[in-house]
Amino acid sequence: MKLKEIIKISGIIKLLSGLHIGAGDSALEIGGLDQPIIKHPITGEPYIPGSSLKGKIRSLLELKYGKFINDLNAKNYGGPCNCGNCLICKVFGVGASNKSGEAGPTRLLVRDAFMTEEWKEKFKNGELSLEIKYENTINRITGTAEHPRPLERVPAGVEFEFNMSVRIYDQDNEDEILSLIKQGMALLQLDALGGNGSRGCGHIEFSKITISKDSNKEDEEENLNDFLRVKLCLENIE
Ligand SMILES: [Zn+2]
Repeated sequence: MKLKEIIKISGIIKLLSGLHIGAGDSALEIGGLDQPIIKHPITGEPYIPGSSLKGKIRSLLELKYGKFINDLNAKNYGGPCNCGNCLICKVFGVGASNKSGEAGPTRLLVRDAFMTEEWKEKFKNGELSLEIKYENTINRITGTAEHPRPLERVPAGVEFEFNMSVRIYDQDNEDEILSLIKQGMALLQLDALGGNGSRGCGHIEFSKITISKDSNKEDEEENLNDFLRVKLCLENIE
């Protein structure tokens, strides 16, 4: 098995609704928000962790192809596929404990997505403030809102730069791998990134997408935007 090439996919993620990617309990401060978003530890800028992006794309593809753990009695019911043989395992990786499959090394690497220079500048100058959305439950009898919980979000309109690398080995079918990733990106546009997606958060759009092979041949671009606007491509993978 030899590495044949590395394909770079990059572009912009634009928020069409507020984005909430939680920082987790470890970031809780006394008197602070109970649902803060993840921020860069030094600059304080919000960003999209590569793991969140990759994990969401993978989970949507697994739903589409029925590749998640579907056995009600399994301990990890609803967990990711870890068969080690399917295309999803090949592209997105398998747990370190799984040495049985033929998937080989993980093909897709997703970097953390930071804000574009324009938005970084706005953030630095105080022109971009994070929004606090209050989530309530409605009392069915009185009709009043109760238990407001503040949810921190990056507001709609903000743009991030995303970068992914796809490692293609000599035995790989490049078109099949790229097609899977494109389908995953298209699905994510129809779904949501981060938390509270069913309540309107995390609607995103990919744009200005370029695919370049061999990082020094940047001019070899292919426009993917039209592909993502059309419906999902329906060919099946196994
Ligand atoms: Zn699998």
